[in-house]
Amino acid sequence: MSSNGTSKKVIAIQGDITQQGVDAIVNAANESLLGGGGVDGAIHQAAGPALLEECHTLNGCNVGDAKITKGYQLLAKWVIHTVGPIWRGGNHQEDQLLASCYRRCLEIATEKRLKTIAFPAISTGVYGYPMELATPIAIQTVNNFLQGNTTIHQVIFVCFSLDSYDCYKRFILEMLPEK
Ligand code: ADP
Repeated sequence: MSSNGTSKKVIAIQGDITQQGVDAIVNAANESLLGGGGVDGAIHQAAGPALLEECHTLNGCNVGDAKITKGYQLLAKWVIHTVGPIWRGGNHQEDQLLASCYRRCLEIATEKRLKTIAFPAISTGVYGYPMELATPIAIQTVNNFLQGNTTIHQVIFVCFSLDSYDCYKRFILEMLPEK
């Protein structure tokens, strides 16, 4: 499932982000950056203990911000750790904070001159952000960023469940029509 609305590609796949051979994968971490469950646990498991060691040197990360580490045993050379907002009903700047996560990851990837990046559906697991609301924010923020000056030419949304893949497919078709 892809869109060529710009010369840069945004695609959604169903799969496991730890298995992606991209320049950077994004981790949906918590503020401590010291590991957790869900995608965070899977990434640390696949990267090996050296990832946690490097994370210990970072002094955590604020909600809406991101920090980069090496990828260690992952196929991806880099991991960009971001901290999504916890869903608290929608009136606590969840949308701005979620958009900021995607933007900060893309800014850091651009500073490192990376070309390909894979995102999980940030905040939609334990943090409870409704998938139907999070997905258009992810797509819009990424697409807006790709209109500007960046080295990134491919963004992959890696959907763990079939439900989230269906949701991304639907919004990509709706929001990023092929030109
Ligand atoms: P958060 O705390 O930000 O909600 P979670 O890890 O609980 O983070 O969930 C974020 C999203 O990542 C969820 O949609 C979940 O299904 C998905 N996910 C979990 N494991 C993986 C994985 N290995 N690859 C890609 N996505 C994953």
